[in-house]
Amino acid sequence: MSAETVKQKTFRRLMGYIKPYRAAFFFSIIGMLGYAGVDTFFFSQIETLIDDGLTSSNPKILLYGAIFVPVVFILRGLFNFISTYFLNWVGFRVVTTLRQQLFDHMMKLPVSFHDRHSTGDLISKITYTTQQVAEASSRAVLILIREGAFVIGLLSLMFYHSWQLSLVFLVVGPLIAKIVAVVSKRFRKVSGRIQTAMGDVTTTAEQMINGHKVVVMYEGQKRESKRFSTINNITRNQNMKLINAQSLSTSLIQLIASFSLSMVLVLASFPDMLAQLSAGAFTTLLTAMIMLLRPLKQLTTVNSDFQRGIAAAQSIFSVLDEDAEVDSGKQNLDRARGDIKFEHVNFAYNETESPALADVSFHVKPGKTLALVGRSGSGKSTISNLLTRFYTPQGGVIKLDDGDIYDYRLKALRRQFALVSQHVTLFNDSIANNIAYGAHGDVTLDDIRRVAEQAYVTEFTDNLPNGLDTTVGENGVMLSGGQRQRIAIARALLRDAPILILDEATSALDSESERHIQSALQALQQDRTSIVIAHRLSTIENADEILVLEDGAVIERGNHQQLLEQEGAYYQLYSLQFSGELS
Ligand code: ADP
Ligand code: MG
Repeated sequence: MSAETVKQKTFRRLMGYIKPYRAAFFFSIIGMLGYAGVDTFFFSQIETLIDDGLTSSNPKILLYGAIFVPVVFILRGLFNFISTYFLNWVGFRVVTTLRQQLFDHMMKLPVSFHDRHSTGDLISKITYTTQQVAEASSRAVLILIREGAFVIGLLSLMFYHSWQLSLVFLVVGPLIAKIVAVVSKRFRKVSGRIQTAMGDVTTTAEQMINGHKVVVMYEGQKRESKRFSTINNITRNQNMKLINAQSLSTSLIQLIASFSLSMVLVLASFPDMLAQLSAGAFTTLLTAMIMLLRPLKQLTTVNSDFQRGIAAAQSIFSVLDEDAEVDSGKQNLDRARGDIKFEHVNFAYNETESPALADVSFHVKPGKTLALVGRSGSGKSTISNLLTRFYTPQGGVIKLDDGDIYDYRLKALRRQFALVSQHVTLFNDSIANNIAYGAHGDVTLDDIRRVAEQAYVTEFTDNLPNGLDTTVGENGVMLSGGQRQRIAIARALLRDAPILILDEATSALDSESERHIQSALQALQQDRTSIVIAHRLSTIENADEILVLEDGAVIERGNHQQLLEQEGAYYQLYSLQFSGELS
């Protein structure tokens, strides 16, 4: 597809967003046309003022003018208000719609999409790019219609008074059009670059803000500052290029216009021309020509604004066009028994990389516990990622209750799991609401209280003045790692799902709290299938089966006793930890 048709498509799609508000849009156009009409009418009265008023010394005309002027300006103000108000009304509606769509769509996009895109870039699309679409397109529309109509009005006025002199403008017209075409091509290029640069600015700033502690500890200030400075300057550079092209073209166009003005003066100096024109008509002509410069100049920026809007819209639509998570499953599942099977599962995050899982098979019967051990990077979390369909395996089958997990509806599948991972996500809300997040159905305060006690959350919240109603701050910054994990465990307890995945769920806890919570977790595991990933082997001794993973492959399997007797990898890991705990 050629670039032109892509742009046309984008434009048509953008128009689709305005369609629901076409009444308001129509009003705003009426306002613009009215505004241009009033202005043209105002200038058409110069002739009357000069010829009938001043030249023939008629005071009535001057008094008529005294009333005429304020009336014109009242009308002008009214039309201005109508056009600006309705145009922005539509513009902000479109921004709101685009933002909401982006927000909702980004939630639906697969985990792999989020892996590929930086947070800053995506946030900048929601905040900055959407605004760009509306601002740039509104400006383009306003100028195109209002100033365009004004130009037509002024030209008509000129032709009405003297078509010979006005013809000069027809010579100049194509010249100006040519310049505009050249300049707008350049605009397109540069505005695309500015958008990318703005995304980079956000990304870099966000990295510094999120990693602030690491930066100051490792004395990365200079490095970060330099990184930011480079990107910051790229943005400036591109913006300057845009301004350059803009101002150069403006000056050039004004120069051409001034030539046409001198041409008019020369033509008017011919005797029969002079005889034909009244003072009023000539003044009107000259005024109209001078007045033409401002709208003409603005009209040359229409294309750049328009291109900017289209470029922004394109960048938004490209996200909206990303395929949402595939959910081809049709089957519903109320509550799974919790029978999980991996059959020869192969998976790589990237086609080019070595596989994260190679021919992994296991079977966990309902209510049983499977433990996964192995070095970091061995593929433990990947198993959990596949089970919840965050990623799709390239080979093999994963079954839940004898059905392929891809046959279930995504919602139905994910509802079967309670996941506690080493990365706890907390929302800027009260601890109680964070615990209740993801619970099905009605949750009473007593329920929250109960699980909070089981997960030892109350142990620290009871010391807080607001208890469970304490707000945790953005992503729980006000809490320690262990406290956050306890909240995550309480959340999982409340969710009451048939399958529990604990991915190093207690890694941030001290041995004391871990022991306490262990009993809560064991109670939780009683009547549900559990997959436990733990690096402290003492916590998984009771598991029904233990898989030892290495480089994505299962190298040993069995229960604790069997694995110790084998004296293999598990035995080595165990002895290592055991001696570590002794020393
Ligand atoms: P574990 O949980 O055992 O520490 P993981 O299952 O997280 O290990 O990772 C297994 C392998 O897959 C590692 O080599 C890791 O670098 C890679 N990996 C994990 N997550 C991603 C991802 N989102 N994109 C690409 N590679 C990944
Ligand atoms: Mg992991």
